[in-house]
Amino acid sequence: MDLESRVLELIAQNPNGVNNKMLQSANPSTGVAELVEVINKLTAVDKIQIFHKKNQLVYMLKNPESAKHSKGADIEEKLIYQLIEKASNKGIWIRDLRYESNIPQTQVNKILKSLESKKLIKSVTSVAASKKKVYMLYNIEPDRSVTGGTWYSDQEFESEFVDVLNQQCYRYLQLEKVIADKLTDPVSRRNASFKSSKTICDYINNLKISKVQLSVQDIEAILNTLVYDGKVEKSVASHTSSSGEENFTNMYGIIKPHLSSCSLMRIPCGGCPVHSECREGDVISPTTCPYMKEWLEF
Ligand code: SF4
Repeated sequence: MDLESRVLELIAQNPNGVNNKMLQSANPSTGVAELVEVINKLTAVDKIQIFHKKNQLVYMLKNPESAKHSKGADIEEKLIYQLIEKASNKGIWIRDLRYESNIPQTQVNKILKSLESKKLIKSVTSVAASKKKVYMLYNIEPDRSVTGGTWYSDQEFESEFVDVLNQQCYRYLQLEKVIADKLTDPVSRRNASFKSSKTICDYINNLKISKVQLSVQDIEAILNTLVYDGKVEKSVASHTSSSGEENFTNMYGIIKPHLSSCSLMRIPCGGCPVHSECREGDVISPTTCPYMKEWLEF
């Protein structure tokens, strides 16, 4: 086997990459200049790609798809493309591109513009990275952590949408509780008032209040807010499948507090964040406070 094939085989056997030390120990009788020549040749024909990892060069096999895209690009552009490709659907921030490629900022900006104009990459504003731009391949669907998932639209949290879903889930469980309360047996009554997150999810999707199909995971996130508010109780039902595997389903039902809190406990001032600034005659005062007014009207 010739040197080029041996190097290629070594790189293929190490999907996490091969560094210069590994190359040299696998080919002890070959000089550095010869190895560099082979690496340059394999890079030029798009068979391998080069990365900077912990201040050293690492060689990896080239994905045939990216080889097709980066044909004709110069080495710096290829390196930037490869780093973006490696970042997958989480994307990569421009500062990390600069750091990992060792290419000056102005050059990185130029390359990014060129790749964007060729529609090979795109920039996405990341909710996870404090609304900074991250770059990913053009045809990649950004990860939920980048877009913020269902509850974000144009990187803005859709609080009204979440409130509507919250109310609808609660309303549904209230209605189911009213139906269940007609049963005489207390155990059946309790069981019938609990609904699985899948059932609640189907109900909410059928209401067509969301433009996108909501997942069970989305609905569980909403139901959990009701659990934290003390309005809904969660229990886990286990059942064994025909293959003998044990499965668990999250069930949710309305809870009625055993004791209603006395009106003194519900006074709004206890947890008020502007309590220390609240004084009669000031901008924040009990006389103008809407929470106090609501409490007095109760
Ligand atoms: S009166 Fe209103 S603003 Fe003042 S402490 Fe109570 S809740 Fe806060």
